[in-house]
Amino acid sequence: MKQTFMPNIKTEEDLKALQLEGLKWTVAHAYHGSDFYRRRLDEAGVKPDDIRTLDDLRRLPFVTSKDLQEQYPWPLRSVPFEDIVRLHASSGTTGKRKVMIYTAKDIDDWANMFARCYEIAGLTREDRIQICVGYGVWTAGAGFQLGCERFGALAVPAGPGNMDMQMQFLEDFQPTVICATASMGLLMAEEVDRRGLRGKINVKKVIFGAERSNDAMKATIKELIGAEQTFDIPGLTELYGPGTGLDCEHHTGIHYWADYYIMELLDPETLEPVADGEVGEMVFTTLRKEGAPLIRYRSRDLTRRIPGVCPCGSLFPRHDSLLGRSDDMFIIRGVNIYPGHIDEILSGQEGIGSEYQIHLDRKDDGKDYMTIRVERAEGASSDRDGKIAAKIEAAIKKGIMVSGTVEIVEYHSLPRTDRKARRLFDHRD
Ligand code: ZN
Repeated sequence: MKQTFMPNIKTEEDLKALQLEGLKWTVAHAYHGSDFYRRRLDEAGVKPDDIRTLDDLRRLPFVTSKDLQEQYPWPLRSVPFEDIVRLHASSGTTGKRKVMIYTAKDIDDWANMFARCYEIAGLTREDRIQICVGYGVWTAGAGFQLGCERFGALAVPAGPGNMDMQMQFLEDFQPTVICATASMGLLMAEEVDRRGLRGKINVKKVIFGAERSNDAMKATIKELIGAEQTFDIPGLTELYGPGTGLDCEHHTGIHYWADYYIMELLDPETLEPVADGEVGEMVFTTLRKEGAPLIRYRSRDLTRRIPGVCPCGSLFPRHDSLLGRSDDMFIIRGVNIYPGHIDEILSGQEGIGSEYQIHLDRKDDGKDYMTIRVERAEGASSDRDGKIAAKIEAAIKKGIMVSGTVEIVEYHSLPRTDRKARRLFDHRD
């Protein structure tokens, strides 16, 4: 029989029963194991025994990244040190890093979740996975590696960058899957193309992690590498790391592992649930995490829920790819906009490449102006720049109710990176 990492859940009721059990366990575990949680829950007037239904989740107080920073270096620690077997930390460019601790069971659960991702992407133990994400204190490389080994495929831990080595590995080891950020994937795809390697490599699937990737970028990578499918993996350090969900082969959204955590989608201002299909902030409550459990942790990541049932029949609910962070949300002329908005609009346009930048300026008239620089499609002539720009400007006006100027720039003139690409440049004071 084919090995599966999926749980034996037959109905939505089964899933809800499992969630309630996990919620009760988590609140009791955090209350008894962590001074921070006990204080917070006491302040909110909630005792572990008060959790009787899933709706009681809404009585629980929120945890924010500020709480994590204040408790540095051991935020949310709910077990004795002797039970901790590992830590990971976010890259933390500003302020202190977010450090998360894991017990042996947490690592085991993470491996299981990640193995599910490879399973849902249709991989087998015959697959070879070139893992081109960062190895180190952050969760990326460790997560992809852990899942691969649990799943039983062959891991090629290449890490990011080092393009000569990447190309050699693609040829010599014949990996069938590449895992990379979309930015790194694009660099690799362009290098494969430049070296004329397409017919000599065997990559069927590309799994993108850690960064929002637009459809145009994914299509370019797929085409240049000759892959059949691409997948998106969400990854939040605070929530184990990458591997907490993946889109299935129908690509109708990311199935997330709701037997390991509950995701609420809330309006970042009012903290009330948003309607199905509306954009909200992902708020996480873990159901089995021992080391550093999350109770209503505000991730700042924005997405929308996808209603209905996927054609694959999975009971696991779906959310859209990440549409940006509420921190990245910017206000121009009184309208809230997040880069993912612009990204989505650009993805539907023809004649342009996948790279773009958003620039915000305040001019002498005191008004704010938005300029979007987009690369021309590879090999396209500049004759149609004016027409294409006008069409995109109209689409932006229609999509986000704010006008912007679109500048079409030369293909490959915007910077490439093997990490996360910077899209937003706010030059206003
Ligand atoms: Zn599905």
